[in-house]
Amino acid sequence: MASLPPKPITPVTPGAERGPPQNKQLGRYKCAAGALPAAPQHKMPRCDTGPAPRDGAWAQVSSAAASGAYPKRVKVVEVGPRDGLQNEKNVVPTPVKINLINMLSETGLQVIEATSFVSPKWVPQMADHTEVMQGINKLPGISYPVLTPNLKGFQAAVAAGAKEVSIFGAASELFTKKNINCSIEESLERFEEVMKAAREASIPVRGYVSCVLGCPYEGKISAAKVAEVSKKMYSMGCYEISLGDTIGVGTPGSMREMLAVVMKEVPVGALAVHCHDTYGQALANILVALQMGVSVVDASVAGLGGCPYAQGASGNVATEDLVYMLNGLGIHTGVDLQKLMDTGTFICNALNRKTNSKVSQASCRL
Ligand SMILES: [Zn+2]
Repeated sequence: MASLPPKPITPVTPGAERGPPQNKQLGRYKCAAGALPAAPQHKMPRCDTGPAPRDGAWAQVSSAAASGAYPKRVKVVEVGPRDGLQNEKNVVPTPVKINLINMLSETGLQVIEATSFVSPKWVPQMADHTEVMQGINKLPGISYPVLTPNLKGFQAAVAAGAKEVSIFGAASELFTKKNINCSIEESLERFEEVMKAAREASIPVRGYVSCVLGCPYEGKISAAKVAEVSKKMYSMGCYEISLGDTIGVGTPGSMREMLAVVMKEVPVGALAVHCHDTYGQALANILVALQMGVSVVDASVAGLGGCPYAQGASGNVATEDLVYMLNGLGIHTGVDLQKLMDTGTFICNALNRKTNSKVSQASCRL
């Protein structure tokens, strides 16, 4: 059967990508998360989330990849407070952000990306980064990484108490050019001083690669390019590379093809996937990644966020939906789904929007 051509993606005007996208105001979502069907719940002790080992410690995952089996446990990286909220049209009050992160901390999540130390001129929604970092209850065993695009951001993040940071590159030359007006190579060189400072402070650095399955300007992105950028960021010292389908155009087919190439350059134990659900493919794409041995998945509570690069775009896969699927597969996450859904209800009410989580919608007691 012939495959359908992908829908064209409407490019945004240069520079517009830095501003918040338009977000329809929906009616207040009054639905309280109801009781769930009996999906298995797995309690797992929280563990340290420092740099992933680069040696035989991941052998179990690698052999899982070889046999096509699923990993026994998956680390869910919650990105809602940063990736989700930064795309909200209206500025979210700082106490709401702090409350959101504190509630997420009670769900069993090991990693909660808290905020972004970018210039408020670029992302006004994250201007309160210091207040957020200093206001949240940092529970032991949970990592609260923050995005730091440059040394100034890194220093501010550390001063505010950050113990882990993230940097971001892209697999598309045109995206990088339009977004930060330089080549991919130059964009990575700019991170060198952040990497150096992080090394000196013993701060682990996570690396994002965006546009791995498609770009709003270039269209299809070659898997070889994704592998090349991922390898560079891994070689620079990033302990984990999160492969982002930023505009959510990927399919299980393109995910499989891309991962197969990237896994030749970066150990699968150091890879994460970050899937936006624009075309409704996120869970399917994640399932393929799990089958290939990936055991770290980014997600956003209530499916928060949008994408300024594609019309009708959704945010990340909803954390609730991801955890529901992982529970069904018997994969340990340590995350309490009910608490997660309560958190989703809280933030949706605070933002006056409807949840994007299908699990929360299905569990709604009307
Ligand atoms: Zn994202």
